Amino acid sequence: MPSFDLPITPPTRVQGLVAGAPSAGGGPELPVFYPASGEQIATLIEDSPQTVAQAVAAARRAFDKGPWASLSVEQRQAHLYACRQVILDHADELARLECAATGLLLRELKSRHMERAAYNFKFFAEYIGQAQGARYDQSAGYLTTVARMPVGVAALIAPWNAPVALASMKIAAALAFGNTCVVKPSEQTPLALARLVQLLQDVLPDGVIHLVNGRGHVTGHALVDQPEVDVISFTGGTHTGRTIMATAGRHLTPCTMELGGKSANIIFASADVERALDGALLGIFSNNGQQCLAGSRILVQSSIFDAFVERFVQRAQRLRVGDPTAEDTELGPLASLAHMNRVLGFAASVAADNGRLLTGGGRRDDLGNGYFIEPTAAHVPTGNAKVAQEEIFGPFATFLSFDTTEQAIAMANDTAYGLVSYVWSDHLPTVTHVSESMRSGVVWVNTPMMRELRAPFGGMQASGVGREGGQACERFYTEEKTITMPKSPPPLRALGKQA
Ligand code: NAD
Repeated sequence: MPSFDLPITPPTRVQGLVAGAPSAGGGPELPVFYPASGEQIATLIEDSPQTVAQAVAAARRAFDKGPWASLSVEQRQAHLYACRQVILDHADELARLECAATGLLLRELKSRHMERAAYNFKFFAEYIGQAQGARYDQSAGYLTTVARMPVGVAALIAPWNAPVALASMKIAAALAFGNTCVVKPSEQTPLALARLVQLLQDVLPDGVIHLVNGRGHVTGHALVDQPEVDVISFTGGTHTGRTIMATAGRHLTPCTMELGGKSANIIFASADVERALDGALLGIFSNNGQQCLAGSRILVQSSIFDAFVERFVQRAQRLRVGDPTAEDTELGPLASLAHMNRVLGFAASVAADNGRLLTGGGRRDDLGNGYFIEPTAAHVPTGNAKVAQEEIFGPFATFLSFDTTEQAIAMANDTAYGLVSYVWSDHLPTVTHVSESMRSGVVWVNTPMMRELRAPFGGMQASGVGREGGQACERFYTEEKTITMPKSPPPLRALGKQA
């Protein structure tokens, strides 16, 4: 039986960070596991609602009294570049901590996640240097300017599937526009994000960033239920998003919601099929299959269906599954035991929906106690099947076949979600028509996921509310204020001066 060594020895106890010091905690101790071995590797101290209130109050004080919100653009840029540098300097450590709690591939954490995290700070540093306000010269001799003011305290809540990569976008954007923030990682994967916040505290002015830890319904709920929180940016499941918005509604707190997906990957016979095959495999097996933007419903035109599926299955069966720290591993473990069992449960539903498992569907018991499963694919006859409707969030592809373009569009849009879509075809009219018809916030044509930070990213329907990205973040993390003044004061109507 293999036993996979930990990528790093993590701290045994992980605590929140409030006002630059370990938080008061106050809640129970929660275990953190290494998904590749199933062993407990750390203990997380949950922050009680009272501790969360202290974190928010500290962020509020720093916003109201501290220099952060009123720094010049150049000063804030210098801090953001320092944040970038500290991430680059600690990229190996952060990647290893992330690997230890998530089981994501170390190679990809170093090359993609930590580089992206550092880039997020550079991106927003450059963005604020170019942001433009509005100025209106009114004919009556008045000048109106529209200022974009920081909103205040931002609550930033991250999921477990890519903690640092996702949270760093929120942190960089919130800080760049002059806000202070309280970060809450997933209780399952707090290690790297906790270290990141500690590192950022070292290079940022006091009180600008805080960290609270714990379960969603305790610590997370307490955070979004604080009247002093001015804005909430959440990435996670759709059900949680609904709960948070209901709480936020009581305080009229604006939210962005980056939620789940069941994205269609439509492959036409007119595609470069070799490239589409590579794209389909990347679309479902990257990030150990745990990504919101996975192309998890693969719709293939019937004339190429059998050949495409056969080759997909051959390649899926050859994927190297195992040690997330090994250079040649292609698929690591799922993030938790409960999640693994949930994903395996979907395999059991395929037959009940008159579908057929094409490959996989079982646990990799030969890999010890880690949460490894076989790369899995199923073919279902209609889009009503459970595995064609629900987000599985694992290395599990669902295949459907279609004949006509209109059929493909109808099938692709036949879900509650609407995060991204993929279209593979070299026929321009097909590409144009299908892209415009997709009910999703993003459409990628002839490419796997490719994020452009200046462009808005986010989902429609059950996949989200609002967008992240350059201008979208500027709008979300600032509030417009209209200021009007006369250029040379004209006489006013003098009420009450008449004889
Ligand atoms: P989750 O919703 O269970 O948890 C996300 C975070 O919310 C965690 O930090 C959790 O502790 C917290 N939370 C839970 N209940 C809460 C509550 N009542 N109030 C406040 N906070 C609460 O999601 P997850 O299982 O960690 O992540 C997987 C989900 O995230 C998937 O559905 C995936 O599609 C989605 N996701 C979306 C995107 C995107 O950009 N659209 C990106 C990554 C992941």
